[in-house]
This record gives sequence, C-alpha cells and structure tokens, in this order.
Amino acid sequence: MKKTFVNKQQVEDIVKTYPTPFHLYDEKGIRENARKLKAAFAWNKGFKEYFAVKATPNPFLINILKEEGCGTDCSSYTELMLSEALGITGSNIMFSSNDTPAEDFAKARELDAIINLDDITHIEFLEKAASLPKRICLRFNPGGVFKVSTSIMDNPGDAKYGLTKDQMIEAYKILMSKGVEEFGIHSFLASNTVTNEYYPLLAKILFELAVELKEKTGANIKFINLSGGVGIPYTPDKEPNDIMAIGEGVRKAFEEVMVPAGLGDVAIFTELGRFMLGPYGCLVTKAIHEKHTHKEYIGVDACAVNLMRPAMYGAYHHITVLGKEDAPCDHKYDVVGSLCENNDKFAIDRMLPAIDKGDYLVIHDTGAHGYAMGYNYNGRLKSAELLLQEDGSVKMIRRAETPKDYFATFDFCDVLKDMKY
Ligand SMILES: *Cc1c(COP(=O)(O)O)cnc(C)c1O
Repeated sequence: MKKTFVNKQQVEDIVKTYPTPFHLYDEKGIRENARKLKAAFAWNKGFKEYFAVKATPNPFLINILKEEGCGTDCSSYTELMLSEALGITGSNIMFSSNDTPAEDFAKARELDAIINLDDITHIEFLEKAASLPKRICLRFNPGGVFKVSTSIMDNPGDAKYGLTKDQMIEAYKILMSKGVEEFGIHSFLASNTVTNEYYPLLAKILFELAVELKEKTGANIKFINLSGGVGIPYTPDKEPNDIMAIGEGVRKAFEEVMVPAGLGDVAIFTELGRFMLGPYGCLVTKAIHEKHTHKEYIGVDACAVNLMRPAMYGAYHHITVLGKEDAPCDHKYDVVGSLCENNDKFAIDRMLPAIDKGDYLVIHDTGAHGYAMGYNYNGRLKSAELLLQEDGSVKMIRRAETPKDYFATFDFCDVLKDMKY
C-alpha cells in the first residue's frame, strides 16, 4: 500500500489559499531521507551528496538539502546560477554536463566548480573556453550492456555519455601533462534502479578502474562519483531500496578493491536526484469532469504540463483518491488532462475507487523529474510548488504561472500591447 503524506482535511485547508493543481513537498520526509543517506556512507570520510538540480530546481528545496550537508550537481548555466545564488560554490558544485556550451564551462570555472568532462575532446574545448582547473573529473562509459545478476538494467553502449576506458587513460595522461593534479571518476550506468545491488556493482567497476588508472598513469585519484540512478518504487508492488544496505555494499567493494591498492582515503560522491526527493513530492489535482464514451474518463485540472513522465515514458504514478483510501478499487478509469494530445493521461485502465467530480487526487512520487520537466504546450501554465513544513504549516515555494509569464517573451516589442491580463 502506498500512502500519501497529506490527507483530505489538509488538502481542503490548503486549497482555501492555493487552488489545485499544485506540487506539494514533504520537508520532514526530505530531511529524514537525506540523513539516512549520510548515515549509510558515514564510513567514508569524504562522502558527499551533490543533489542533481535538474530533478527539482527549486531554491527552497535545495536550501533544505544544503542544510543537510548536500552540494549541487549542475548541468547548465542556469543551474550554476541557482547554486551560486544559494551560496553553493567551489567544491560544493559538481558540474556534470554533456554537449556543453563554452559559456557554461566558463561559468563553472568562475565558480571553481568540480568539472566532470564528458569527452576527451572537451579537454581542449574547456582550455579554450576558460582554463583547466587543478582538479578534474572524467565520465566513464564502459559500453556493452549493464547487468545485475542476469537481467539487463541498461545499455551504456547506446548512451551518448562518457569516455571509453582507453580514452580515460589517455585523457588522464594529457591532463597530467597540462598540470592537473587531482582526479575523479564518474559514471552513470542505469537509471531508476530498484535494487540494492546497483551502486555496489557500479562502485566495483569504478574502483577497479581507479586502480588501473593509478597504475597506468600515476594520477592522484581523490574521489569516485557514483552519480544518480538509485531509484524509488513508483509501483506499489516494489520494495524501496534499503540505503543502509547500499552503503554497506559499496563499503565492502571499497575494502576489497580500494584499500589494498592504497586508495583507502578516496572520497565517495553521489549525485542523486530521484532518490533524494521523488517520494517526498506529489501532484494534487481535482477531478473536474467525468466522461463516459468508449471508456470511462476522469478529467482532472492538472495535465502533462505539470507532470510529463506518464506521457513521455508511459511511466506509472500511483494515484490515491483522498478520503477514499479504504474504498474498493472497483472502477476502471483513464485519468486525463486537458492537452490536445491523447498521451495526456496520468493513468490508463487504472482500477480506482468511484471518483466524483470535486474529489482530490494525489499523484504520487512527483518530487523529482516532476515539475522540472514542465512545459507550456496548449498554453497551459505551470502550477505552484508548496512545502508542507515540519510544523505542519504550508509555505508557497514557487507561485503558479500566470498568463503574463506565458507571454513574457514578447516583452521586447509591442505586438501584444493591448493584451488584457
Ligand atoms: C539525471 C542525472 C543525475 C540524477 O539522476 P537520478 O536518476 O535523479 O538520481 C545525476 N547525475 C547526472 C549526470 C544526471 O544526468
């Protein structure tokens, strides 16, 4: 059973001030989870989580994570700006981007972020765009398929990211000859893994690579960045990852590979997004229509603009009808938004309790890669983001868009000067 962190009474209170739809985040859940992650890796002296800003680029939420000791993982100019504005700079930023524009590299150098290069040609590109730092990270792509036991988890050979092993060795040599003194290794091999084995397996691959790189180049390796990919159970049949078991699995691989090679003081970094916030956010929406044609439809006041994952990947997001948690799920619905796109469906053939117009639906696990993926198709506006604080009060942490925001990019001219807002 998946439970909501907010109940019907609370939502009825919230909508008096903030109309649906809105994303709601659970401060208590966020802080407890961040502390658990820290505890799971407490065995590693240099451990640090760099929150993947792209997952949920909200300054209030990033500040909460900052208070819990996290840095940021940025991939673009604006994400770097956001970090800078929050006082997160230097080694508290990991800049893990790809196909990187020159101005983004320049900004990353200005902030003295740790730069994670996605390709061997980016050495020269970075040198021209700004300058080479003393400390750098390289992203590794082993190719092939990535398996846990016998099941294929993902397909690195098809992924655009990272350097081959030979390129890693060559790049380390080039960078050393250019005066780089400290090195890191990064890799992201599988997304949204719901198994305690992913990080330990990835860690072993990167630890063995670190030993080889040290032997072949003599480089001073300071950190291994396990990146993102630790997932969350979107469907009710899945068990959540046990972060303590994951930390312990990584520790075992570290003791086995790194310590004997004299690399026992290398720091472990993570760049988790989904795991940090996914379960601690939800999209609250109201049923505004019901339609009985060839199928049974419930039309809600949110749409794919507020949460794109179902339309984009056919992703499952659990739905709870508030106040009907214990009612039998004996109705089969498509829960849809208003876009003129037939993939704008939060659920297809989903068994739910009988839904009445006016019911509030909670769409679970939207805390990461939820609001962030939003767009403005059909002229639909993005919702507010609200924070359920630890004391039970609710704070607005991003206002809803207005038509004025939607038309703002015409403000350079007077073509819409007669627009009435
Ligand atoms: C997206 C991304 C992450 C975060 O991934 P999650 O699946 O949210 O944990 C981390 N690092 C990089 C480079 C990414 O692109």
